[in-house]
Amino acid sequence: MHLYKEHIITVYNQYDPTHTTVLRNAFVRAMERRFNELIKIIRIAVVEQDCFGAQKRMLIQQMYPPGYHAFDYPRSAARVEAFMQWLKIQVDKGILTIQQFQQIGEAVEAAWSNMYIADSYKRGIIRARYEMIKAGINVPSIEDSGGIEAIFGLPFHIDRVGLLFTRVYSELKGVTEAMANNIAQILSQGMIDGDGPRLLARKIIATIDGKDAGTLGLTDKLGRFIPAKRRAEMIARTEIIRAHHLAAIQEYRNWGVLGIKVKAEWITAGDSRVCPKCASMEGRTFTLDEIEPMIPAHPGCRCLALPIIL
Ligand SMILES: [Zn+2]
Repeated sequence: MHLYKEHIITVYNQYDPTHTTVLRNAFVRAMERRFNELIKIIRIAVVEQDCFGAQKRMLIQQMYPPGYHAFDYPRSAARVEAFMQWLKIQVDKGILTIQQFQQIGEAVEAAWSNMYIADSYKRGIIRARYEMIKAGINVPSIEDSGGIEAIFGLPFHIDRVGLLFTRVYSELKGVTEAMANNIAQILSQGMIDGDGPRLLARKIIATIDGKDAGTLGLTDKLGRFIPAKRRAEMIARTEIIRAHHLAAIQEYRNWGVLGIKVKAEWITAGDSRVCPKCASMEGRTFTLDEIEPMIPAHPGCRCLALPIIL
């Protein structure tokens, strides 16, 4: 007890008599500021600027931020222009990615979206054969034709799927171009209005994911607003159905040369999400020429054409 008390007094006496409390506190605060700044700059370096390229290695897309104050030019037009140039590079790398992949045993440079379209197209072929056999049409099985890759590689299929690849890619490109236009406008207006970084970020991100789009007053020419991400997701869904449908119709057509005439029956998913337009088509019969351009009937359509013998 006695020792403890003496210790306190010693500590007290060591510091207080010098009358340096204010100076000491100022020194401590200055020290804290320096360390806080060090923490901040480490966070920016490692997280925001990703100085080790850790994020780059994490993402297949290889998008990366431009660096601290990268576009801090005196003129706001130059700031917008520099941002838009950077954004275009990110979009090209991350969303309109061209990558190497195997296509019919060959390494080709192609859009990343191709593999999904090709997959759906192949499923369409497989489903069509299965449904034809089920309907009593005398066609060989997938195996008897040398397997799905062999069938997929036949000119009438590979030509069609090539058109679908181009279509999907150009639609996606259209979405990113519209997105870039929106962002350029928002940035220009934001510079005029003197928006802070948080508000600018919120507005830019809203054009992509639609969050806060209403409160931020975003609209397109038609007075409504479909954010880029949702438009792209709609394309993905719709084009999968289109690839599946066109593959099936092509398969039904292929047997025409053997004198097998196939018509198609419109089949919906049959659940509560089927729209009234598609529901009214359920069970109706069409020629292949008629039904080919009819499905998908709208974005998000999930309809199918089943073969029937005449
Ligand atoms: Zn439908």
